[in-house]
Amino acid sequence: DVRIHRIASSIRVIPDFPKPGVMFQDITTLLLDPKAFRDTVDLFVERYRDKRISVVAGVEARGFIFGPPIALAIGAKFVPLRKPKKLPGEVISEDYSLEYGTDKMEMHVGAVQPKDRALVIDDLIATGGTLCAAIKLIERAGAEVLECACVIELPELKGREKLGDRPLFVLVKGA
Ligand code: 5GP
Repeated sequence: DVRIHRIASSIRVIPDFPKPGVMFQDITTLLLDPKAFRDTVDLFVERYRDKRISVVAGVEARGFIFGPPIALAIGAKFVPLRKPKKLPGEVISEDYSLEYGTDKMEMHVGAVQPKDRALVIDDLIATGGTLCAAIKLIERAGAEVLECACVIELPELKGREKLGDRPLFVLVKGA
């Protein structure tokens, strides 16, 4: 697919960021190419427009870039899943582990309702810990996660296995 090829070649890989040994997949260069950015959004919209998705939940920070245009195009609400102490209202929170230490993700109470059908969006899945925390927040609100979607998957880290039976859709595989 020519669109996938354009997207893959617009992602810049920066070695040793944020620490030695990491090959960081930088999507800011994808955003500099309006055709690649448009194709990225279109591919997700084509997949999800007829799936009766009522909420697109985006993971801070890069899920805030891809999630909103998809939500608008498919007529779903957008819900930000944020780092601790950013959301002003009442929140539910989920702890999750990182390579070193732990982090926390928060969602506003009431943003997701039990009848909602959710799509979770982030730029990249590595170990899968981040998407797992997102899924837990949405399911604790009583809603169903139909699918998780990322621009990039790092398959060697086997994050997909952590998601249980929730499907994962990705556009590009990185190394
Ligand atoms: P995981 O929890 O799956 O191990 O890590 C995924 C999270 O870390 C995502 O929120 C993603 O934005 C961020 N992340 C980890 N590595 C990279 C990377 O190489 N490039 C980008 N853009 N994000 C990364």
